[in-house]
Amino acid sequence: MSIHERHRLSVVVNARGTFTPLGVSRSSAAVASAVAEALPEFFVMDELGDRASDAIAHATGAQAGTVVHCTSAAITLAVAACMAGTDPRRIAALPDARDMHNRVVLPAVHVVDYGQSNLQAIRLAGAQVTLAGDEKRCRLEDLDEELDGPDVTCLMLVSSRLTSGEPLDLTAAVRAAHRRGVPAIIDGAGQFPRTADLLATGADLVLISGQKYLGSPTAGLVAGSRRLVQAVRAQGNGIGRGMKPSKEAVVGVLAALEEWQAMDRAKWAADQETKVTAFVATAGEIPGVVAEVVPDPTSLPLSRALLKVDDAPGLARELEAGLPPIYVMTDRQDAGELMLELLPLDEAEIATVIARLWALLDK
Ligand SMILES: *Cc1c(COP(=O)(O)O)cnc(C)c1O
Repeated sequence: MSIHERHRLSVVVNARGTFTPLGVSRSSAAVASAVAEALPEFFVMDELGDRASDAIAHATGAQAGTVVHCTSAAITLAVAACMAGTDPRRIAALPDARDMHNRVVLPAVHVVDYGQSNLQAIRLAGAQVTLAGDEKRCRLEDLDEELDGPDVTCLMLVSSRLTSGEPLDLTAAVRAAHRRGVPAIIDGAGQFPRTADLLATGADLVLISGQKYLGSPTAGLVAGSRRLVQAVRAQGNGIGRGMKPSKEAVVGVLAALEEWQAMDRAKWAADQETKVTAFVATAGEIPGVVAEVVPDPTSLPLSRALLKVDDAPGLARELEAGLPPIYVMTDRQDAGELMLELLPLDEAEIATVIARLWALLDK
């Protein structure tokens, strides 16, 4: 009996990407077996934390790293680290940050909602958010103006396809913060393959989701300066207690990082491209469908399949209503566009998607 049958759960085809309500990603057999091996064992958790730091540093080029429960937790704890450092009194006082530098500067174009607003993840540490610029754009002058104010503890930046408005030059933004002695943090939750690029902006901490493109169990990876990573770890005795990683998550991250480093990345990228190109060629034969290969807007080494159809919201609804339900990206459905992320799908699932599209559109 499958796990879905045993618990009476729906089998779904997930072409929506690393989407939390659908279980995010598939872990490899090697990661799954490392997790199974860890569960019945005891560990000295600090030792496991040190090994995770070495592994994250080795994989990303950062000085140090740590694992927390998820990226949302990583945002809260990175802000807490900037406010409280490793001072036990301050760590115990949070989220009361009244006597600390407690203002986080965030470009307004980097306010995102991944199921929760990142504004709330920042405020959860006890910090207050000051937005720079407006929803359309944040110029460096806008950032400078806010960074110049009193009580700034850090600059928070987001690298994601969820950001809006004109893109901001992250390297220049980090430099503007550093000119004022303010640390810069980049939330790159869905950007694992680009962690080194994000660190190359000079950011003090880069936050990455383990369960998205690394394919580990749910985990937030924090990579960056030794001093701030140490401060993030220190929050474990404060507000970080409820955001700690499980032993099996840390072991799963170690296994996934090892696998990633052993992988032939050029071949991986080429295989993904072949998969998307083949899908687009097949889908383009369906009446009423214009299909295109679309590169990731944030330069992840990953393309997606764009389908242009007459009634995109209607098609998305029918795909979800069928058996098995098929989930696609609907952000631009009102413009007649559906996007499919094929990365985790196997051949049978791709055949299911194609067959369903024929059934729904060839009338
Ligand atoms: C997914 C996402 C998060 C939240 O990640 P979790 O690991 O699910 O907490 C935060 N920021 C961005 C930009 C995301 O895409």
